[in-house]
Amino acid sequence: MSIRTGADYIKGVKSRQPEVWLRGEKVTDVYNHPVFTQPIKEMAKLYDMQHDPEYQDQITHICEETGKRVNNAFLIPRDGEDLQARRRVFEVWAEATFGLMGRTPDFLNVVLTSFATNDWFFRQYGGDRYGDNIINYYRYVRDNDLFLTHAIVNPQNDRSKSSHEQDSEYSHLGVVRETEDGLIVRGSKMLATLAPITDEVIIYSYPSFKPGDEKFAISFALPIDTPGLKIYCREETQDGKRSTWDHPLASRFEEMDAVLVFDDVLVPWDRVFINQNVEAGNLLYPKTGANLQPSHQSAVRGLAKISFVTDVTCSIADSIGVDGFLNVQNQLSELIQGVETIRALVRTAEREYTITEQGEALPNIVPLETIRGLLPNMYPRAIEILQTIGAGGLLMSPTGADFINPEISEDMNKYYSGRAGVPSEKRVRLFKLAWDLCGEAFGQRLVQYERYYSGDPVRKMGMFYNVHKRNHPSYPRVERALEESLLMSDEYQKSAKELSK
Ligand SMILES: Cc1cc2nc3c(=O)[nH]c(=O)nc-3n(C[C@H](O)[C@H](O)[C@H](O)COP(=O)(O)OP(=O)(O)OC[C@H]3O[C@@H](n4cnc5c(N)ncnc54)[C@H](O)[C@@H]3O)c2cc1C
Repeated sequence: MSIRTGADYIKGVKSRQPEVWLRGEKVTDVYNHPVFTQPIKEMAKLYDMQHDPEYQDQITHICEETGKRVNNAFLIPRDGEDLQARRRVFEVWAEATFGLMGRTPDFLNVVLTSFATNDWFFRQYGGDRYGDNIINYYRYVRDNDLFLTHAIVNPQNDRSKSSHEQDSEYSHLGVVRETEDGLIVRGSKMLATLAPITDEVIIYSYPSFKPGDEKFAISFALPIDTPGLKIYCREETQDGKRSTWDHPLASRFEEMDAVLVFDDVLVPWDRVFINQNVEAGNLLYPKTGANLQPSHQSAVRGLAKISFVTDVTCSIADSIGVDGFLNVQNQLSELIQGVETIRALVRTAEREYTITEQGEALPNIVPLETIRGLLPNMYPRAIEILQTIGAGGLLMSPTGADFINPEISEDMNKYYSGRAGVPSEKRVRLFKLAWDLCGEAFGQRLVQYERYYSGDPVRKMGMFYNVHKRNHPSYPRVERALEESLLMSDEYQKSAKELSK
């Protein structure tokens, strides 16, 4: 197998029967369920782009190992050019979805590529068996062009206690026992975005394990329809029945989030990567590129999203003739400058790459983590500006059905127009697009995603400062400023004179 088409991907979805629960009902046919059909089709379009002559050379390459064409997310970056080639797939897929789908297949395929590049880590903590497992799994996913979800956070039971201290022994996912065939795992993990429409799930964790948490410190991968694996979806933000006229974004890009529950599930030995090892569970992030490489994808995707919101806000302001007012111009400039800041940081991260002992090119973490620190504030602020400039217009939008009812369509065309040259239908559709971003539950989830998609921003900022302090144990500039001003001071000159007497 080589790169898949959209039809190949859909065939895979149709061939599986994962245990998906939504609103108290078991979803027996994921593809034909109205909540999932359109997101599956949007994903299929991404796979089709791999075969489109316009994009193929930009987002895929010939694999050195197999001679077959594979997605650039599987490229082990060796230099800056590779990082840029990889960025193209992030960019092209993010643009296709306006940056509104965060967990497109490139995200986890980059994580897995980085795991496989650092197979030494799995060998060191578990022996060659685990190192071979990660390499073989990477090859399997790459060569079959698979789509993964992941669940790396324990459920929010009691955050003041570690995994082994929780009231219920297996509320957090852990190992029940080892068998000849593999591990038996039980418990839950969150928040597996897009799980119902993926091929496989990979489990690993943020570094959070304490001594005593051994049985919870695991990493493995399974097919998404493995018996005993339950996918509990949140309530949908769209029911799949609303029109694309009225909800141009929400009706297309719903990224379902889910809690995964493992009911004594067998993980075959060849799918185990870390087995009950607290040190390995905690060091996976800092010692491999598992944090850094997907941050590159997230940054490029985040840039597409904030650029889109900026374009929508500028269009709204222009459509009703308010973009000549100074206050509005200030708000729009704030958005545009935010976009330019993120763009510059992405480019800096790529240019200032380093090469690890394994020969893996790592983008500079400082600009990427800076983006991670900025976006959780910048994105909600962008939405606030969109709400402020859209004002009452966001609430006065009729529906597509009003425009086609001859009894009232004349009024629709008369009273909803914008500035000269912006007809009613165009203005209303534009405001409805904006409402999906800033009013609908769909839009609220997009805000929450930007805050939390890669961990708690509060602790991330804390870590950022700690790393900064480690790398900058002293501040020579400050010392020089103190030294120079001291030497120039009257006090110093006087005491120097006294001493020389
Ligand atoms: C839309 C969306 C999609 C997501 N998709 C995925 C996905 O695909 N896969 C996946 O694995 N995860 C996903 N996540 C989950 C994400 O990784 C977590 O939300 C994130 O790590 C934060 O963890 P939490 O939600 O459990 O918050 P908590 O860690 O429970 O934090 C709750 C609050 O308490 C504070 N707090 C908690 N503990 C501490 C502490 N020790 N010190 C100081 N403050 C603390 C936090 O600052 C925060 O304000 C997604 C999240 C969202 C919102």
